[in-house]
Parts: sequence; structure tokens; C-alpha cells
Amino acid sequence: MVDVPARSHRASKRYIYAWGGGRAEGDGSMKDLLGGKGAGLAEMTNAGLPVPPGFTITTQACNDYFAAGNELPAGLWADVLEAVREVETLSGKGFGDAANPLLVSVRSGAKFSMPGMMDTVLNLGLNEQTLTGLIALTGNERFSWDAYRRFISMFGRIVMDVDAAEFDGPLEVAKHAHGADAKDTDLTVADLRALVDAYKAVVKAETGRDFPTDPYEQLDLAVKAVFASWFGKRANDYRNSQKIAHDLGTAVNVVTMVFGNMGDDSGTGVAFTRDPNTGEKVLYGEYLVNAQGEDVVAGIRTPAKISHLAEDMPAAYAEFTAIAERLERHYRDVQDLEFTIERGKLWMLQTRSAKRTAAAAVRIAVDMVAEGLITEDVAVARIEPTQVDQLLRAQYDRAALAAATRVARGLNASPGAAVGRAVFSADDAVDWVARGERVVLVRVETSPDDFHGMAVAQGILTARGGATSHAAVVARQIGKPCVAGCAELLVDYAAKTAKSTISGATFAEGDWLSLDGSTGDVFLGAIPTVSARYEEQTELQTILGWADRYRRMGVWTNADKPEEAAQARSYGAEGIGLCRTEHMFREGERLEIVRGAILVAAKATRAKERVAAANAAAAKDGLPATARFDAEEAAVVARFDAAMAKLEKLQQGDFEGIFRAMDGLPVVVRLIDPPLHEFLPNHDEVLEEVTRLRAIGTPESDPEFTAAREMLAAVDSMREQNPMLGLRGVRLGLMIPDFVKVQTRAILNAQVAVRRGGGHPIAKIMIPLVGHVNELSAVKRLLEAEARKVEEAAGVKVDYKFGTMIEIPRGALTADEIAVDAAFFSFGTNDLTQLTFGYSRDDAEGGFLLKYVEDGILPVNPFQTLDDAVADLMSIAVDKGRRTRPDLELGICGEHGGDPESIFKCERIGLDYVSCSPFRVPVARLAAAQAALSGAAERDK
Ligand code: ADP
Ligand code: MG
Ligand code: MG
Repeated sequence: MVDVPARSHRASKRYIYAWGGGRAEGDGSMKDLLGGKGAGLAEMTNAGLPVPPGFTITTQACNDYFAAGNELPAGLWADVLEAVREVETLSGKGFGDAANPLLVSVRSGAKFSMPGMMDTVLNLGLNEQTLTGLIALTGNERFSWDAYRRFISMFGRIVMDVDAAEFDGPLEVAKHAHGADAKDTDLTVADLRALVDAYKAVVKAETGRDFPTDPYEQLDLAVKAVFASWFGKRANDYRNSQKIAHDLGTAVNVVTMVFGNMGDDSGTGVAFTRDPNTGEKVLYGEYLVNAQGEDVVAGIRTPAKISHLAEDMPAAYAEFTAIAERLERHYRDVQDLEFTIERGKLWMLQTRSAKRTAAAAVRIAVDMVAEGLITEDVAVARIEPTQVDQLLRAQYDRAALAAATRVARGLNASPGAAVGRAVFSADDAVDWVARGERVVLVRVETSPDDFHGMAVAQGILTARGGATSHAAVVARQIGKPCVAGCAELLVDYAAKTAKSTISGATFAEGDWLSLDGSTGDVFLGAIPTVSARYEEQTELQTILGWADRYRRMGVWTNADKPEEAAQARSYGAEGIGLCRTEHMFREGERLEIVRGAILVAAKATRAKERVAAANAAAAKDGLPATARFDAEEAAVVARFDAAMAKLEKLQQGDFEGIFRAMDGLPVVVRLIDPPLHEFLPNHDEVLEEVTRLRAIGTPESDPEFTAAREMLAAVDSMREQNPMLGLRGVRLGLMIPDFVKVQTRAILNAQVAVRRGGGHPIAKIMIPLVGHVNELSAVKRLLEAEARKVEEAAGVKVDYKFGTMIEIPRGALTADEIAVDAAFFSFGTNDLTQLTFGYSRDDAEGGFLLKYVEDGILPVNPFQTLDDAVADLMSIAVDKGRRTRPDLELGICGEHGGDPESIFKCERIGLDYVSCSPFRVPVARLAAAQAALSGAAERDK
């Protein structure tokens, strides 16, 4: 940072930073105080670029203004007047001077560029007197009247809150007098004069007061309007959605006007130093000859490509390209530039880092490393994790998209492309999908009652609600594209139609819709999509390759099947952090086998225990083991063992597949976790079946009836009040030890088999839901005995690590005891969050939780982003666990393992790896690298 030149001030603090005449009091590093725009103007001035003189009123002034109850801090106005006097000196003009008037723009500018902040007011300082001066000075009457009418409408709309349409009306009438498609440039002096009168009348009628003529009053009102816009609704909503702090405040920039509308040697434009869509290294932008400010973006006339400027104004073009290149080099990033040419002289009005698409971000980062502009760590830090996510989602075919007509636009609430047929209720969505259709769910807004429809839809479109509405939050959560708050859409549930009040387009149930959740665009018809293939994205791979060099944590995956494991591995997963075995129980014929086993599991286990206990007692007395199953027990045990044996064989096959897919990498297998009723048919359905069979007089001996009654008895006996807190996890393994034994054998025999085939399986066996060390020790004894049997039978040593999930607060708090038995911990943060908050996730997310987030009772959904208190519990467990066992291996396998913000917290806690779904592995690689880099930066401070 350069030394900031001192400045005297009347206010208690220094609120003003000025620039002009080749030097600035602020610089580019002062975004907090000067906002992005002000810092950029100062930096450009310091770099010797042509910037019209002006000054910034700091964000601090904004905050103090609110603190004082919407009053300018004492002395600030005097300091503003002083700064205006300096600008007068530098520009050689006088503010309000009728002979030689200084006009200024008043521009808001927060630290982050923010939609919803006050629009810029141009030409401030004009009144009947200064207008005469402007005419005399420029010799251009038309231009001057045009400036004046623009000023009244802008100031009226932006500062005085007059509806823009009130000004558009008279303008349209005036234009139409010159023909149906006349342009604003066709207006004559007489037209413009008449417009000025019309506009003044509008202001008077709408606000009850005359348009302010005193330039200082205009300035005072404009500055306060900028401050007030900081807490405007749109700005507030935006900050909430982007998690921008509300206490940053906005700065105000007062800038000497330069005029792009002084004739054909003048113009205004915007340009990016590279193409923000593709990242290609070309100057990309547009300009208009004889135009001012917002004309380019407002679409009043069609602007020309920036490259044409080379012909229109070669000297200005050459200077501009040189400046663009210089600014990019200076900031080492793509810049988004605004410029104005006044009678052939180029003026720079803004520079900022350009927003860009995910594809452009990746390409630019890789290119800039190749060009030596940035280093690899900077490239890694510059990609947003969500951009990686976007690159891996299906996207619309570019050509098809260009040819499509947009029918509506809403908020880009959840990214991605969604194509489906319109349905207007959640139930209809489910019905259509059941018929094999793809649907887009269209609602005025959604509520938890619509969840089932959202879950099956390709995408969601709502007419109401913002980026934190139910639709938006749920869509992001379940990874569906969503366009929310599409206010132009009139949705008619009764007729099952919707109409855009802007484009006039209508669509009805069954019509094809294409949503772009990344832009908020809605199209009619089915636009073809291209799936995003990671294998083809070499630039992304390059970035992630760099990321791998910077990250400290490993990135593993949660995968239950060999295909998933292979997919994750191709994305760069370095192991499986969670292989859930219960999925293996559900597929195809297996469910029947599992049910068969479960039905008799309790009885068979009791019989085995009885005989074992009797024989143990006999052995104590030196007697032979003569206890035997009785006939009924023998039958039950045989049935149970047969089912378990089948299961063991099938599971062993599964594990062999996974070990092969992850050859040479660790695989953490979690033993059975869910409550048994999850494998059984629904209680009410079985009851219905039994009742039906009884009602039609089925004889008791009928085999179907017997089976149904047996099932009902079993389901009844396993019913629990709170299954999530009931017989599941390690508890289940201890109550029915055969589950542990069978799974242990399946895992270890798979290891033996794969090793015999030349593979390198690395097995880790994980016990879920441990709250007390004794649970873990007991299950460990069981497991070790079984492992020895496997070794004896196979004649080779098996090799595995034994560990546990930490997902119960008591487990976390007693991690020192648990680490005696566990060689590794994996934090199951889904359950740990449930149990720390005392929420049942299923009930909370379908119910009050989203409302909590919407109302700000909770800052975020804790099932999405790791809560700090949960993170604290993890920290305690890490510390205690490592104290017992310094080489304890630590990971996370809850869904938070794929969430960038949570990954940052894992880095701070000091985990060894994160494990997430295969699809999130690339995001996690980047986030883990960024977490390590920012951690290192923090330590360097
Ligand atoms: P935004 O943040 O929306 O980009 P800006 O403050 O940059 O708003 O201004 C809006 C438009 O007005 C831009 O085209 C900008 O170049 C133009 N503009 C702002 N100040 C001046 C000025 N002093 N002279 C000429 N044009 C200006
Ligand atoms: Mg701008
Ligand atoms: Mg769990």
C-alpha cells in the first residue's frame, strides 16, 4: 500500500478520499473503506490513467450515518464542500456556476458489487441556469437539453422514488412523433425542451414538490439516497443470499461528468479484458457512439462490438486496448472496464475483477498461469467450489440455447439445466413421473407439502420467493435446478396453465419447459443438453491437479458399489471413507433373504445363547458339553443360518468387487447400521393384508395367511417409538452377533480372495453409533474371534484396521477411552448433528428447519453446513482421541464432507481426510486445497 496522503477534516473522522490530476489519496487495497468502485478509481489514477477527478465518501460515513439515525455525521457536509471545491479547481469548472458549470455523477459502491444498490445519477448539478452555461460552453444545444432531461428522470426515479414508467410515457410519445421505430437520437431540441417540462410536471405530481434546482441540495439528497439504498430490500436480500455482512456499508463516489453524447467523436462502452463466457483471450465488449452511461446496457440502441471502435476512433481504441492490457497485468485478473470518450478523449470510469462463467474461470486461471501472470496457488484459490460443481452438471447445448427463445426470467436459485414437462402440483409430478415422464414442477411458491413433487421433478420453477425461499433452499439441497421468484409468471392452478406478463407466452400442463438454474432463464420446449464429462475437461483437471499439491487432507468417497467406487476414483478419490453395507441387503433377491433371517433372528440368537450358556456352565463343572437345540430351536437356527450363509456369500462378492475397484486404496466398511424394520414391509400394509385375508375367510392354515401373520408379528415386535434412537448400529450387532460375524467373514474372505488374485485390498472395519467404549470393546472381541477363524480356515493372515464412527455426543466426549480400541475415527456428522441439536433430520428438514433458516433463527441448515457447536464436539474428540493414540486416523463421512464451508472447518479441526459422494470429489479436492492455503495464510499473519 502506498502512503495515504493526509487530509484535514471537520468531521471527527476522515470520511473523504479524493483523486484527480494524476494522484489519488486512496488506492486499490482500500476496498473496505472506499468500496470496490472507489478503490478502482483511485488505483487507476495512481497508475496514471485518465480518470475524471472526484472523491469517495467512505463506507464508514455510511455506517455512521445509520448509527446517528439517518443523519450525516457532524462536519461531513463541510468536508464534502471542501472536496467539491478541489474538484472545481482540478476541472476548472464551478459547481452551480452558470457560466462554466461542473456536473458530477453520484455512484454507489460497496466492497462487493451488489445488485440492489442505488443506481448511478448522472449530470447532477443541472438546473435552468447551469444548463445555459452548458449550452454556451459546448455550443451544443441539443446535447445540453438531452443531458438535462436525462438528469431529471434519473434523479426523479432514483433519488425521489418516482416510478420509471411515468417518465417512459412522455419519452415514447415524443419518439413516436418521429416514426414508429424512431430512436432517442431522433429527438429535436424542441422535443427535449418539451420533455424537460413534462418530466418536471411528473415529479411535481408524483412527489408533491418541485424538482430541486440547487445543485448542493441535489448532491445532499443523492448522497443520502445512496446510503439509504444499503438497507433497501433488494440489497438486503442479496446480502442474505450471498452471506455478505450487513455492516459493511456502501461508499459514495462523486465523479466529474465526462460526456459520451457530444456527437460522433464521442461514445461510451463496457469491455472485458477476456471473454467472460469462454475465457478466450480477446477484448470483449460493446460501445455506442454519441451515448451516455447506461445507454449501452439499457438496450435503447444496439451497441457495436468493441473491435469496431478501431475503425470509428482509432486513436481512442489504441489507447483503450493498451490500458485494458495494463490493468489486467496490474490486477493479474480479468477486468471489467467502463469508459467514455468525450470528443475523442478517452476517460476510464471503472475497473473491477470480472464476473465469469465456470468454464471461463477455469480457462482463464490455467491460461494466466501459463502466461506467468499468476502462480498455481493463486489459480487454485480463484476458482469457486460451486464453479467446479457447475462444470460437472449437465448443460444446455450452446447452439440450441442460442436459438431458443426465452419466455420468462426469474432468480437463478439453484444451478443446472432442467428439461421436463410442466406440472402444477406435487401430486401431479409424482403421477407423471410414475408414467415415465420427466417433469418441471411449476408453483407459485413451494412448501414442505410439495417435497415429494420436488424430489421427482427435473427442476422447479416458482413465481414467488427469493434465493432463500423454500423452493430455492430445498432445490439446492437436493441438487435440482431451480428458477425462483419469476414474478412475471401468472400461475393458474385450476386451469393448470401459466402466462408471462412480459413475454405474453403461455404454457399448460404437459408442455415442455427448459429451465436454466444458473441464469434464471425459462424457455419453452425441450432444449438438448450435453452432459459434462470430467474426462474431457482438461483445464479443470489441471486445476485440480494443482489443488492436490496444496491440500493437506485426503479426499475419499462414500461408495457402496464397485461402479460408484470406480466413478469416484476417476474423479480422484483416494479411498472409500464409508461403504454402507445395508444397501447390499436391499437389492433384488437379497431383501427376501434378509427378511427371512430377520424374522427368526431373535429366536435363533436366543437359542444359540441358551445352548452356549448351558455348555459353558457344564464345562465349568468339568462336564461334557451336552446341551442341544430342541426340535423347534433347531429348525429356527437352521433357517436363520441358511439365510445368513447366503447373505455372507453375496456380500463377499460385493466386497471383492469394491476391493478390486479400489485396489491399493483404503476401504472403510461400516457394519450394519439401520434399524431392522427398515428391511421389513411397512406395518400398515402388512396389517391391511392380514385383515383382508381374514375378512375373506381365509383358513388359518393357509400358507399365505400364515406368512402374513408371522410377518405382522415380527414387524409388531420390532416397532419402536424412536427408531433412530432405538436398536440400530453397534447395538444391533451386539444383540444379534451373527450380523457382525457374517459381515466380518464376508469382508475378510473377500480380502483373502482378492489378494490371491494379485490385488492389494486395504480393509478397515468400522462400527457405527458407539456411545460407550464398552460397546466397542464387546464388538471388537466378537470380531477378532471371527477374524482368527477366517485366518485358520484360509491358512493366511488377514490384515485390517478396526475403528469406529463418532456420531453420538457421548462418543465424542469420551473419545480418549474409545481410542483405546479404535485405530481410526470417522465423524458421522449427519447423526452427530441430529443428536447435538436434538432434531430428527427427516422431520426437521421436511418441517420447521427451512422456516428456521428463512426466519434467521438458524443462520444455515446445519445438515448442509457443519454447525460450529458440532465442530467443537469434533475438536474435543480429535484432541482426546489423539492423546490416547497419537497416530489415530481421523476422517469425516457425513454429507458435510462434500460441502466447501464444512471442509474448511475440517481443515481447522485437523482431520486427515474428508469423504463425500463420488460426484462431489472434485469440489472437495479444490475446497480442501483452498482450506489448506487459507490456513497457511492465516498462520503466516
Ligand atoms: P454500475 O455500478 O451500475 O456500473 P456506475 O456508477 O459505474 O454504475 O455508472 C453507471 C454508468 O454511468 C456507467 O456506464 C458509467 O460508465 C457511467 N458513468 C458514471 N459516472 C460517470 C461520469 N462521471 N461520467 C460519465 N459517465 C459516467
Ligand atoms: Mg459501472
Ligand atoms: Mg450414522
